Amino acid sequence: MAGKSKEYIFFVKHPQHTIAPVIAENWEQATVKAADFWGVKWGKVAALCECERKMGTHKGVCMDCNKVFYGGEVICPMCLRARKDEERRKQEWLKSGGASLLPKRGLQVKMI
Ligand SMILES: [Zn+2]
Repeated sequence: MAGKSKEYIFFVKHPQHTIAPVIAENWEQATVKAADFWGVKWGKVAALCECERKMGTHKGVCMDCNKVFYGGEVICPMCLRARKDEERRKQEWLKSGGASLLPKRGLQVKMI
């Protein structure tokens, strides 16, 4: 973590994934980190990523539970694990045919 450059917290959402809280300098980097959070290839998700929220960094305070923690991430390790579990459950649900139950929505493609 360099820490000097201007960084933001992005909450990246995607129709087939849970929201990924990441720290990045710009939107493109945020989508790269989000793909990493989801454990998928960037090229597969980049076009459908949307920015749910963007804010200044708040390092050291968990965005989920507001607890102070050490580390350069957005949320504390406990909340991170909870979000990863949520993501894993979502993927299992999608695999079991849940995709067809997703609400219909317009295709919003964000060009970078
Ligand atoms: Zn937390």
